[in-house]
Amino acid sequence: MQKIAFSRSLVIYEDFIAAIGEAKTIFITAHVGPDGDTLGSMLGFKFALEKACPHIQRVDCVISGKMPDAYRFLPGIKEVLRMETATTLLPQYDMAISVDCGSPDRLGLARPLFEGAKISVNIDHHISNDRFGKLNIVETTAAASAEVAFDILKTMKIPMDANIATCLYTGIVTDTGGFKYSNTTAKVMETTAALISAGANPEYIFKQLYEEQPLSQVMLQADALRQTQFNPEYTIGWAVVTRELLNQHNALDEHIDGLVESIRRVDTVLIAVVFKETESGITKVSIRSDTHDIDVSAVMAQFGGGGHKMAAGCTMEMSITEAPKALLPLLEEKVRQKLLVS
Ligand code: AMP
Ligand code: MN
Ligand code: MN
Repeated sequence: MQKIAFSRSLVIYEDFIAAIGEAKTIFITAHVGPDGDTLGSMLGFKFALEKACPHIQRVDCVISGKMPDAYRFLPGIKEVLRMETATTLLPQYDMAISVDCGSPDRLGLARPLFEGAKISVNIDHHISNDRFGKLNIVETTAAASAEVAFDILKTMKIPMDANIATCLYTGIVTDTGGFKYSNTTAKVMETTAALISAGANPEYIFKQLYEEQPLSQVMLQADALRQTQFNPEYTIGWAVVTRELLNQHNALDEHIDGLVESIRRVDTVLIAVVFKETESGITKVSIRSDTHDIDVSAVMAQFGGGGHKMAAGCTMEMSITEAPKALLPLLEEKVRQKLLVS
């Protein structure tokens, strides 16, 4: 299975490499609400292309929205532009690359530039990816988009260096939950070993990502965890994070990261959910499954979201009080079906 997927990709890699050869201006975009994988993959590509392709005149990296502080240690992060404020972007690029985006909605404000490029390339690993690029390099067996990026750069014979390795390592360590999830394959470890040999520092990266949280984040999570609700069987746990709770702690939206995994940690929990009230008054959902038998990505797809089987999300066009009422019965049904078969 793995082998077939890989050989199919090699053909697409060749198309990508040929297209890179023609491109002088490149635009790379991450997904909205950027995480370590989308940012690490974006910057890894930027460093690699700038280093190895002298014909490329510029590589512009952009995000929509605010950059989370947790990634300020990434090399090159200061040069990442925000769609809201960038003044130097070209009206059209020879190539646009999206990394770690499962659907065009995830491109945010970068969507018109992505779609308007002479060639658009969708590099991703989400099971829900809807192949929205002209060229699609989607490896659903990869743990992270950074792993796909590593394979592409290897095929291009671009040697790793400490900057590229730090960025790609960050993508892999974040999407595998620190090498804990089922996507932590032998191939992930081989890739990781190569990244460490090239200069990625696991202790430094781990500390930056997980051990340097502001007090507002730690206390917001403690409070939200205390307020977590459960169904009578304690198989579904959900936290509701309102703007009021965020404001009480002087916390930012990004400070919710990690809360949903804390809820999943409860031994009886099969599905963990965090509902977050957005600034515009609708609801962002982060969901995790504790078992391979419950595909939460499929549930999220019903609300226009997606992700992976055991980690997914969506944005519900509903208030923070309505969203749990709409979603929780569907989750109860998923759990009921799972318990029926087991
Ligand atoms: P999160 O809960 O935000 O950490 O996201 C978990 C997984 O679900 C990640 O792989 C995301 O890319 C994916 N995901 C989160 N939100 C959405 C969304 N609105 N649409 C599609 N996929 C999403
Ligand atoms: Mn991501
Ligand atoms: Mn990813």
